[in-house]
Parts: sequence; C-alpha cells; structure tokens
Amino acid sequence: MGKPVRTCTVGSILARNMRSPSFHELLWLSCAAKRCCSVRTVLPTGGDVWRIATQLQVPPDSFLRTIPAEPGAEDGVLLEPNGRRVHVVLARRALKGRQAACVFLMQLRDEVARCGLGDLRPLSCQAWPAVWATGAVRLDANHVCTCRAWSLADMDREAARLLLEQEAAEREVDRRIIAEWNVQVEAAPHPTYRLTDYCDYLMRAYSVRMSGTSTEGAA
Ligand code: SF4
Ligand code: SF4
Repeated sequence: MGKPVRTCTVGSILARNMRSPSFHELLWLSCAAKRCCSVRTVLPTGGDVWRIATQLQVPPDSFLRTIPAEPGAEDGVLLEPNGRRVHVVLARRALKGRQAACVFLMQLRDEVARCGLGDLRPLSCQAWPAVWATGAVRLDANHVCTCRAWSLADMDREAARLLLEQEAAEREVDRRIIAEWNVQVEAAPHPTYRLTDYCDYLMRAYSVRMSGTSTEGAA
C-alpha cells in the first residue's frame, strides 16, 4: 500500500467542523435508531475508501466485502480472469437487536445507535436520503427510514448537490481505475486475486491522485 497522504482530507474535515450543521445534519445526528444503516448496502467510492483507510489507519479490506455485480457491470471488479464481477461494499456485522448492520454502526445501548465515522462517512451516507436522479437532487424513492417522513424541504439542496456531484466524479474515477485493474486481471497468469489485492491497487491509485501528482480523473 502506498504511503497515506492526509493533509487535504484533514483540512476538509476541519473546515466542515467549523461551520454550523444544516437542518438535515441535525436530523441525522439526532436519530438514535439509524435504521437505514441496518438495511442499506453502501457502495463507497474509491475516495471514500481512501479517506476512511488513511484517517483511521486501517486496511480497507477490514471494513469492505464483495457482493456479486450484475453481469457486465462496468463498475464491477474482476478477481479472476473471466470470473464474475463483484461490487466492493461496506461490510456488515451482527449487532444487538439487529440482524446485521453496517460495520461502522455502533450500538451504544438498546435503541441508541451512532455512526462511528461521523464526517468521514461515505458521501452517499452524508447525502442520504437525497440522491441524484434525472438531473436533480431528489429523495430516494426506496429509502428505508422508519423514523420520519422525509421531504425535500428537510434537505440543504445545495449541500446535497455538491456531495452528490463529488460522488459522481469519484465514481467516474473509479470506473477508470476498475477498468485498468480488470485489464490486468484478464491478462494475468494467476488464477485468483483477493479483495486485499484490489484494495492495494485502489489505495495506490488514490494516493497518487490525492497527492496531486496525477491529473487523472481530476474533478
Ligand atoms: S457509514 Fe455510517 S452512516 Fe453510512 S451506513 Fe455505515 S453507520 Fe450508517
Ligand atoms: S434516514 Fe431515518 S433511520 Fe436513517 S438516520 Fe435518518 S432518520 Fe434515522
């Protein structure tokens, strides 16, 4: 794994912590149920993975797992030549009173849960339940909140738009990284790769990008 580069992420987190939370963030912070964190499958961007791994100083495969991707998915990762593509998502684990939940969800006591990542949580979690659809910020029609009836009026739409644009830009970078990785896997003589091999590749690619020595995928 390449040497972690931390400055830009620390700066952005400090900057965010110095401003007042939006109404949307206050609603999120005050929710003790965090039901959505038990139900959603979170597909982090490569940038999310890089920020979490470098800030927490933990290997990415300690908080990621794979799930099957739909056949031919452009953003599906190959782990063996001609194999089935997978998506790399946040791992889940059993938690008291829940069948399973995001690996970062902390159950403090019955009915009181918190995200252990705070501002480091993936971009899609920060925008949730807002998503980008047909050119605008919208509420996810399938959102799984059991706590309240969300409306777009609850959202800071400009903040959500910026988050979702950053997410889209990082997914575009990820598509290129994954395409390059898949070409190497297809051409490789080894029969299988592990998630940790792909994570090392992703971290190296993002370390170069975040250090500003690459123009690849610059948003
Ligand atoms: S990263 Fe945090 S907000 Fe996102 S699903 Fe996990 S616990 Fe919930
Ligand atoms: S979407 Fe609902 S369950 Fe999830 S944190 Fe917000 S209020 Fe809680």
